[in-house]
Amino acid sequence: MRALSSFLGETRGIAFVDDPATLRLRSRDRFAVSPVLRQSLQGKAAEVIVSPGDKGELLQVIAAAARHRLPLTARGGGTANYGQSVPSRGGVLLDMTQISGVLWTRPGRVRVLAGTLMSEIDAVTRPQGWELRIHPSTRSQATVAGFVAGGSGGMGSCGWGMLRDRGNIIALEVMSMEEEPRMVELRGRDVELVHHAYGTNAIITELEMPLAPAWSWDEAIVAFPTYLQAVDFAIQLGHEPGLIKKLISLQEWPIPRLMRGLCGVVPEGHSMVSCMIAEPSREAFASLVADHAGDIVSDYPEGEGPYGQPLYEFAYGHGQMQIQKEDARYTSVQGLFPPEGLAEIIGRVHARHGSSAPLRLELFLSQGRLVAMGSPLVLYESEAQLADLVRNLQAEGVGVANSHTTGVRGVGIKQITERDRAFKRDMDPHGLLNPGQLDFGEEEGKAETALPTTGWRFRQTGS
Ligand SMILES: Cc1cc2nc3c(=O)[nH]c(=O)nc-3n(C[C@H](O)[C@H](O)[C@H](O)COP(=O)(O)OP(=O)(O)OC[C@H]3O[C@@H](n4cnc5c(N)ncnc54)[C@H](O)[C@@H]3O)c2cc1C
Repeated sequence: MRALSSFLGETRGIAFVDDPATLRLRSRDRFAVSPVLRQSLQGKAAEVIVSPGDKGELLQVIAAAARHRLPLTARGGGTANYGQSVPSRGGVLLDMTQISGVLWTRPGRVRVLAGTLMSEIDAVTRPQGWELRIHPSTRSQATVAGFVAGGSGGMGSCGWGMLRDRGNIIALEVMSMEEEPRMVELRGRDVELVHHAYGTNAIITELEMPLAPAWSWDEAIVAFPTYLQAVDFAIQLGHEPGLIKKLISLQEWPIPRLMRGLCGVVPEGHSMVSCMIAEPSREAFASLVADHAGDIVSDYPEGEGPYGQPLYEFAYGHGQMQIQKEDARYTSVQGLFPPEGLAEIIGRVHARHGSSAPLRLELFLSQGRLVAMGSPLVLYESEAQLADLVRNLQAEGVGVANSHTTGVRGVGIKQITERDRAFKRDMDPHGLLNPGQLDFGEEEGKAETALPTTGWRFRQTGS
């Protein structure tokens, strides 16, 4: 308690909140989608939320927290869905949303402050003919630093790959967690140290991100009478390099019915592929649909469909949330279906689970090859049931990340190497950044759940 009041004394003049109700509310995942985490994270809250208005104030906050050995957890939009920005050991919740704004744009790149919302970046760059290459389905609530520190991919990944693919983050300026914080510029492969590390090894202050041409996007839903027809179409679309696309979301019936917000556009019994297609590719897209005997049942410019929200808010993490409006027990695990034999593996998982556990998948590129992410959808009963689901997927060659735990290692999307350990030791010598999420030594791996996941596997591309 004395440490906290000294901290507040030394950061006087910087906005903060410490009333218990607000602390509880703003310490939680904004959208708590995992039934397991809803239980295990209950009651975790920061002791104070501090909102520095610029990098100077941020430096004061970090220095004071380091001096008084207070845990510090960064938070942008708070939309991370595995409790990555829940302050599991109390201390300071660092609200980054006031350190926001576009610093400059050049053809094909943008430099921004960490707390800038992704939709705000596009609002600046689109009139110049550019937009962010990749955004999550939480684009209008998520900050760009939160996406880089906590996310993995999303809209755009079927053309550009995952955030971890080389070139999708150009540079990061980060601050160390020390009594005298250092600013470090990471470029090239060094950006990987901070990407998907959940704010455990540095605080991101600025980002330089690559941009893509800002096409007029068309949102199309294609319906198929059988799931395997939908699978063939989605995979072929993913392999067509000449078709400019931003989303391929493949949902087995009855998922289209469970997503009530789709206004019933998908006929009874049909599986669907939701797509975002650039305007110049529409004609070629329609011919591909015809070749696969699909039916375009809904077709609107981005955000203008009858659903009252963009179509991408029915995909990725939002897909799960839409389904949970029907029944909050619906859940899944995060499988990464490998590129080799993709159609066959999806077919085998479909055959094993049948329509009682319909498949929810997004297709995108990873290391230049088409993969699918998702799993069968089940009504949650127990962790043992999820463990069976994980084992069934693994038996078919699917790597599974754990979306029902909070630690970097436990989730298993980021691969931790000796370089990561050395960087963490250097940038956070007192182990104060988001503690519990990436601990080394005695605490290593303690927060992980019992699910038998082994994480996602990627090809080694050299060090
Ligand atoms: C409905 C729903 C849909 C989603 N869809 C996607 C999706 O399509 N793709 C995807 O990848 N993810 C998705 N997510 C996860 C999440 O929304 C995204 O990763 C999002 O970009 C996080 O941004 P945020 O600003 O809300 O970050 P937060 O939740 O605030 O933080 C995320 C992580 O980053 C850390 N962090 C935040 N700011 C900083 C900083 N300045 N420096 C260092 N660390 C920092 C936090 O400590 C935390 O560990 C989804 C989540 C939900 C609930």
